[in-house]
Amino acid sequence: EGGIHGLLPQKCQVMVLLNPWSGAGEALHLFTSQVQPMLTEASIGFHKFVTEKHNHAWDLAREEDMSKWDAVVIMAGDGLLHEVINGLMERPDWKTAIQKPLCILPGGSGNALAASLNHYASKSHVAKEELLMNCTYFLCKGLHAPMDLVSLRTASGKRLFSFLSFGWGFVSDVDITSERYRKLGSARFTVGTFQLLTSLQVYKGRLSYLPAEVQSSASNSLPPTEVNTCPSPQHPHWVSTANGKSPVNILPQPASPLLKEDSVLEDSLLVPFEQPVPKHWTVVPEEEFVSIVGIQQSHLGTDFIIAPTAKLFDDAIHLFYVTAGISRMGMLRLFMAVEKGNQLALNSPHVHYVPVKAFRLEPLEPKGFMTVDGEVLTCEPVQGQIHNRLARIISG
Ligand code: ADP
Ligand code: MG
Repeated sequence: EGGIHGLLPQKCQVMVLLNPWSGAGEALHLFTSQVQPMLTEASIGFHKFVTEKHNHAWDLAREEDMSKWDAVVIMAGDGLLHEVINGLMERPDWKTAIQKPLCILPGGSGNALAASLNHYASKSHVAKEELLMNCTYFLCKGLHAPMDLVSLRTASGKRLFSFLSFGWGFVSDVDITSERYRKLGSARFTVGTFQLLTSLQVYKGRLSYLPAEVQSSASNSLPPTEVNTCPSPQHPHWVSTANGKSPVNILPQPASPLLKEDSVLEDSLLVPFEQPVPKHWTVVPEEEFVSIVGIQQSHLGTDFIIAPTAKLFDDAIHLFYVTAGISRMGMLRLFMAVEKGNQLALNSPHVHYVPVKAFRLEPLEPKGFMTVDGEVLTCEPVQGQIHNRLARIISG
């Protein structure tokens, strides 16, 4: 596979973005005591940028002169990498900027990508400082590989890029409500799970997707009349009138003379929210869910293996959803199985898995939180599609 993998130059210079507040607040100490000696040993020069507030890394990634750096290292949780990727995608030179090798050194409470990279490298399951050591070793070796990103659109017009996951329902609510236990590190997710299990909620919505196996023809090559005959749900009142804006048109726009031809990344598989999904998409018959997760990596947490077969650039979103009717005991069994990635062996009629290229979720009520890479999003209609090999990541 020559040409796919790359190697950092010897004596490289890296930009380190460090969130002192991530995880249990030990990232700075861990960097100085564990990481720095290894970088010195490997002749990797670095400059450390300590983030001072939410979205600081986003701004730094958008404004920084990237020609100074051979790689951008994120010593934090997944949330900070999410900011960096979105900052890079907002640059006029996004096309080259997003190809800058990125590196995650797990310093947060959510270290899903680090755990996934460890898994892809066939290393034995580790957490905390051992996982940090493995990832620092990857950086010292300097090998980088392509990584898929998902482009996510909301009905209110937001566009976000995601390397990890989209979620709604149980899993997202655990992520957000457990914030108050962040001193516990990754154990906060276990505590949050047990707390939310006591009152299992149902989330009503319509879920549609483009399966990964089907030859995906670009939606804009279809005549506009050739759309799904399945009745489209009326957008709930709260969506279209919440901010007085009309739904956003995301069809490819005619090239503006002011913009270079490739100045935006098009989502060729998606159609505007006011149109039903294309005919060759699948509309899930169930409309009551306990949890929905679309994930591009194997792990959603260090002990949370949602998609054991996922790869860095397999061009797929691994869509998992749990339909209503599952018992509390069933959920408990599911969570225990996910620790080992064995959930499909349960053969539960409520647990569904399908690899997809694109999806749309239209909530029928604004309930709970949605999350992208573990960061909060207001509950509203969303759709997204995979972009194969858009980014690069230091991997084992
Ligand atoms: P964790 O995995 O523990 O959640 P993250 O690195 O994902 O750690 O960061 C969590 C949040 O902290 C992110 O939303 C980020 O924007 C925010 N953040 C970054 N720097 C700071 C800071 N100095 N103070 C407070 N929050 C910060
Ligand atoms: Mg986070």
